[in-house]
Amino acid sequence: MRCLQCSGGSVTVNLELLRAWGVRAQRVLYPSVCLLCRGPGQPAMDLCAACQGDLPANRFCCPRCARSLPGDPDRVGRVPCGRCIRRPPAFDAGFGPLLYQAPVDRFVQRLKFQCRLVYGRLLAELLADALIASGRREMPECLVPVPLHPRRLRARGYNQSQVIARHLGRRLGLPVIPDAVSRVRPTAPQMGLTARDRRTNLRGAFVPGTRLEGATVALVDDVMTTGATVDEVARALREGGATRIEVWCAARAQ
Ligand SMILES: [Zn+2]
Ligand SMILES: [Zn+2]
Repeated sequence: MRCLQCSGGSVTVNLELLRAWGVRAQRVLYPSVCLLCRGPGQPAMDLCAACQGDLPANRFCCPRCARSLPGDPDRVGRVPCGRCIRRPPAFDAGFGPLLYQAPVDRFVQRLKFQCRLVYGRLLAELLADALIASGRREMPECLVPVPLHPRRLRARGYNQSQVIARHLGRRLGLPVIPDAVSRVRPTAPQMGLTARDRRTNLRGAFVPGTRLEGATVALVDDVMTTGATVDEVARALREGGATRIEVWCAARAQ
C-alpha cells in the first residue's frame, strides 16, 4: 500500500489492529445503552449489569434438550430428561441459558418481527457470556444457523438465527456456515400444533448442503420450543457428515 503522506514506500496494514481500533472508537463515540432501563450499558453489551442479572435464567435443565426441569439441582444438568431418554433427539446436547419469558421473549420478537437487529447482537452476547461462564473446555468447529425457507427469507429480509450466529461467531472466533442445511419446503407455523403434528409438519423440510465431514457443529436458533425444528435440522446435518451436534438457542421455552 502507498503511504498517504509522501506517496512513496510501503506501509503494512494490520487489519485486525484496525478493526480493534474501530471497535474501541465506536465504544467511545457511541457508548452502549441498556435496552431495558436506558441507563449506561456494559462495554459491548446493550444491557446494564443489574438488568442482565435480572434476566430469567434457565439454571436447572436437561443437558440434552435444555428443557427446564424441576427437581434436585445436583442431579439436573447431568441426567437427560424422561422425554430425551424415551425418544433421543438427533442432536447430542442443548444449551439455552435464558428462559423464553419476559423480557427475553420481547428481545426475540423484536428481532424476529420488528427488524430490530440490535436485539440479535444482544442475544448473541448473552449466549456468548453464558457459554464462556459455563467453563467448557472445547468449542465446536463451526456454527450453523437454523435456515429459513427462501420465500420467508425474502419476505423478512434476514434470518434472525443467522444474525445471532454471525455475532456469536465473531465473539467466539468460530466460522458460520449458513448453507450447511437448506430449507426446501415451506412449512405451516408450528404454533398450536402437537409435538407429533410438528414433526409431521417438518418432515422432509431440510436437506444437507455444504458437507461437514467429521465436524463438530453448534446449531444456532433464536428460540427453542419443543425442539422439533432443531431435531429435523440436526438430522440433515448428520446426513451431511457432522459427527457431533449441539443446539445453542438464545432462549428456551418451558
Ligand atoms: Zn438496565
Ligand atoms: Zn431432555
